[in-house]
Amino acid sequence: MQNTFAAKQKVTALYIHVPFCLHKCHYCDFYSVPFAESSLQQWHQGILKEIELSYMAATAGAFSKSPLQTIYYGGGTPSLVPLSLLSEQLSLISNTFGICTEAEITLEANPGIKDIPSLRSLGVSRLSFGLQSTSDRLLRMLGRRTTVDSCIEDVLRAERAGFDRIAVDLMIGLPGQTLADLQETLSVITKLPIGHISYYSLTIAAGTPFEKWYGDRPDLLPSEELEREMYYLVLSSLEDAGVFPYEISNASRCGEESRHNLVYWQADSYLGLGPAAHSYLGGVRRGNIASLAKWSENVNIHYQTASSGTDKGKWQPEQFLPGTVEEIIDEAAARKETVLLGLRLLSGVSRHNFRKRHCRELTEEFAEQISKLQNRELLQLEVDSIKLTRLGLDLANQVFLEFV
Ligand code: SF4
Repeated sequence: MQNTFAAKQKVTALYIHVPFCLHKCHYCDFYSVPFAESSLQQWHQGILKEIELSYMAATAGAFSKSPLQTIYYGGGTPSLVPLSLLSEQLSLISNTFGICTEAEITLEANPGIKDIPSLRSLGVSRLSFGLQSTSDRLLRMLGRRTTVDSCIEDVLRAERAGFDRIAVDLMIGLPGQTLADLQETLSVITKLPIGHISYYSLTIAAGTPFEKWYGDRPDLLPSEELEREMYYLVLSSLEDAGVFPYEISNASRCGEESRHNLVYWQADSYLGLGPAAHSYLGGVRRGNIASLAKWSENVNIHYQTASSGTDKGKWQPEQFLPGTVEEIIDEAAARKETVLLGLRLLSGVSRHNFRKRHCRELTEEFAEQISKLQNRELLQLEVDSIKLTRLGLDLANQVFLEFV
């Protein structure tokens, strides 16, 4: 185990990747496979075993654990998972790691969820809808087979079922998207009972239909200037509606920040289960393979060995984890991560927290970078923090490069 703050910190956040979608959207490069009953069972059995393996790893000392404060089902389309399977997984998690009474349990959803009240009864406390836009024309262009009306209906059904934490994702910088389209979307969603909004610029991902259509046709996409205008239109419209940005791409009503995602931005530890999921445990970043079949095979091999009893005694604690080691975060790397991830938050990086985590002064550790970025008016130094300026928000990637 690394001798860093995150390595010694108790893991209280769990991510579970649900790799199923009914259709593949034209722009998407997240790992997902077509939804099928046999694949669903394969995934479910693998998740149950991976929960047990991770619990064995923690018990054997690979990382410290504490009852979970956040659980996040991401995808893919987690709302496709039947309630009985979710219930079985949450029971096992509760019986092993434990789940805090006030835990935030998020499920990503696409419009058309069948039984929203039962999800609430299971303990899911937050629903995050992939809305993207309220223009059916733009949804068709993205290859999304949902309609705006079905999404609005689901948001209202979720509210009636007692969900008081509802989030949506939006996209900007889409081919053919205008400021008027975006204004319309913002005016619709700010009237709905939605307390958290994520807004992402389209990226043309390798291997997607969008790469074929737009990879060498940037003229078909909004210009950089128009995209920045869209970004600031989102910020100002949301602020007018009482939804305040707290991260480069996320805004919320007071108290509705995503507690799970804050774990990532604060460079804290988390456990990730399922194909293509990532973990940060004991100061080590691990990744599960992005293949349902190979991940499942890998989990089964680990599970058989771990359960056999004979080899178990020879195993090092971390060998219970099926993921591949991607990066070992030593103290120097951990200091950089605290800054790189923390600068995504509009509150910036707290000098007090940096001192507590790393036993160093932030302004001494990165004196050169801070002074250079201050001179370029990209970073501002406050009594207890460093944070991006408005110009720094626009040129965030240039700021981050200084800390890589
Ligand atoms: S529903 Fe989400 S995860 Fe599935 S293909 Fe579309 S964007 Fe990707």
